[in-house]
Amino acid sequence: MMLVDYNSLLLALGVSASCLAVTLVGSWFSRRPDTFLLTCSAGLVPLVVGIFIYGSYVDHPKPIFAILTFVLFFIGFPTIWVAGHQFRTRRLSKIRFFVSSVIGIVASVGPMLAGYDGLAFMADNVVVTILLLLTAREYWMSRREAPTPLYGITALYTMTAISFALCAAVLIADGKLVLGHAPDNWAEDFSLAVCIAGMTGIGALSLALHQWRQAALHRQEAITDSLTGLLNRRALFDLYGHRSFGPSMAVIIFDIDRFKAINDQHGHAAGDRVLKLFGEELSFGLRSSDTVARLGGEEFALVLDNTLPGRAEQVAERVRDAFAAQAINIDEKSFVCTVSAGVATGTVNGVGFDSVLRAADKALYEAKRNGRNRVEVAAYLHAV
Ligand code: GH3
Ligand code: MG
Ligand code: MG
Repeated sequence: MMLVDYNSLLLALGVSASCLAVTLVGSWFSRRPDTFLLTCSAGLVPLVVGIFIYGSYVDHPKPIFAILTFVLFFIGFPTIWVAGHQFRTRRLSKIRFFVSSVIGIVASVGPMLAGYDGLAFMADNVVVTILLLLTAREYWMSRREAPTPLYGITALYTMTAISFALCAAVLIADGKLVLGHAPDNWAEDFSLAVCIAGMTGIGALSLALHQWRQAALHRQEAITDSLTGLLNRRALFDLYGHRSFGPSMAVIIFDIDRFKAINDQHGHAAGDRVLKLFGEELSFGLRSSDTVARLGGEEFALVLDNTLPGRAEQVAERVRDAFAAQAINIDEKSFVCTVSAGVATGTVNGVGFDSVLRAADKALYEAKRNGRNRVEVAAYLHAV
């Protein structure tokens, strides 16, 4: 005999599932794009109702209670799976839901209607096991995003699946196609306990997962320039501030010519468009070892890592040339915009990012002084 009776445990499971549903909706409010949270709690609702109706079946084994339980379970579990799939792919798969729901309902309700309640519970446990394993698989496949909470969620769904598999195994081993009452064996008791633990754990880990995503989003925002989507000055210093620049590393600073006049003549929004366009031009045709950032205002930097002598100047020339050749169309007006650039390369003995940046800035100043729409290379380069 168990310490606590089966129905009290069912009640505990129903309550913990309800709490989880509320928690998930709460989390969804603080991050609306994560609709999988909503899908997941939508799946918990039929499960909770199903759990309470199953409690009635345990006391009064009327087929209608079992049938209602099966229908609700095979709306709930497929939804939980689809939520996992949505977490991974960001798409809601209605086909997965309908197919698995129909299979589960037909496999369990069919035998129940035919009077084979034992067979119905075998089928119920088998299909639930499969659905939980499919759910675990979705989180397992997403594990790279946030390993710790996702390993945990995968483990808990797998553990719950195993407990249902044990229920199926015990019923199949007994081989009774007709029971006349709810299955009552050690595997059922064990499964119920595992479900309560699993539900609580999944709830806690879903919150952790949610926090993880939020933190990742904030980290991303902190290093991104919101107008151009490029890295910002801070990110560039995080990447290169501590590096020593040798001859195979170079910095180019670009500054748009007479940008104030563009703002004055065409408006600030047009100015923003120009900045975006230049950001795109700058990002075009780069290597994976090249880094683009917006330093601020209309100043951009390009850091070339692992590059051959002379390439920085070529890249700067190419960008300058391409930008000057591009007609910018805003509000049926067309105008041309140019950019000046200063190039500085690291030295044989190595030099700090600050110094290279300062040298590039000086060269840029020269380019402006020499008439704009041109590239100048830092003088100290020629000394080494
Ligand atoms: P120069 O050829 O010497 O570089 O002249 P300039 O007008 O480009 O240089 P200046 O530094 O005098 O002007 C830069 C202008 O850029 C001033 C500022 O209003 C504008 N600016 C800075 N950030 C933004 C932005 O995010 N959007 C827009 N539209 N304008 C910006
Ligand atoms: Mg400037
Ligand atoms: Mg400028």
